[in-house]
Amino acid sequence: SIVVTGATGHLGRHVVEQLLEKVPAGQITAVVRSKEKAADFAGRGVRVAVADYNAPETFDGLFAAGDRVLLISGNEFDKGRVGQHRVVIDAAKAARVALLAYTSAPGTLTAALADDHRGTEEALLGSGVPYVLLRNGWYHENYTENLAPVLEHSAVVAAAGGGRVSSASRADYAAAAVAVLTGEGHENRTYELGGDEAWSFAEYAAELSRQTGEEIAYHPVTPEALTGILAGAGVPEPMAAVLAGVDASIEKGELVVDSGDLSRLADRPTTPLAEAVAAALKG
Ligand code: NDP
Repeated sequence: SIVVTGATGHLGRHVVEQLLEKVPAGQITAVVRSKEKAADFAGRGVRVAVADYNAPETFDGLFAAGDRVLLISGNEFDKGRVGQHRVVIDAAKAARVALLAYTSAPGTLTAALADDHRGTEEALLGSGVPYVLLRNGWYHENYTENLAPVLEHSAVVAAAGGGRVSSASRADYAAAAVAVLTGEGHENRTYELGGDEAWSFAEYAAELSRQTGEEIAYHPVTPEALTGILAGAGVPEPMAAVLAGVDASIEKGELVVDSGDLSRLADRPTTPLAEAVAAALKG
């Protein structure tokens, strides 16, 4: 079986959809927390298993020998994600799965957000399970799904200076995961995944101006100022600081990925940012 955790998340849904184009539905298992959320998968013949990273016993017997598993990193930042992910790694090891791929972060990223990924990578490599590190760069959607305040204030506010980001769409990263899950020869490989073209926030603002016909400018601020702005907009202060830390990493070039691994695995160019912007503006 090909098993996908986090299957009802944004990335997981892309992965399952793309798997369905390549393999029979009965060979796919979607691991989900809510059966209701996965009703559409079940309706199309995908096997659905209910499990929670916080409850190790729910993973008992879930994997089988020879399975190829995609562990999609969780989003519960306050629950100790390394421990959560270790639950999946331990279960995969006990079952003797053939492959465990993990959605990590770029190796160059030093921001606090990367700590859980480095910890999980260490646990995975230490487990002896055949692994693949899918070190995903940033999603276009981190930006294009948050356009409302940008359009309201005609301003892109970031603490990234002139730094650049090699973002790509979730569908692109899903294509890389699917290539690894359905292909051969990926055991114990590390892929640095990012979009073909890195962009700066000034270029992003210019693209938004071009597509909206409005004058949208980039306003670079300090990480401290950004933390305050995000907290003022309702983001919990610790998360606001983490996000500002990511921008500081962007300024240092830590989210530029020039390996070419993503378009190579997906076997096509990555989605241009302009395309993601156009789709988001269309709503
Ligand atoms: P989502 O938040 O849409 O999906 C997260 C998934 O993790 C959901 O399916 C969720 O289940 C599942 N999950 C969370 N906690 C648990 C748990 N305790 N047990 C089982 N499943 C759990 O994120 P995306 O799909 O967009 O991205 C995937 C991951 O990539 C994120 O979780 C995060 O780690 C990371 N990320 C990467 C970004 C990037 O730019 N590269 C940006 C943002 C996140 P459910 O569907 O039930 O909620």
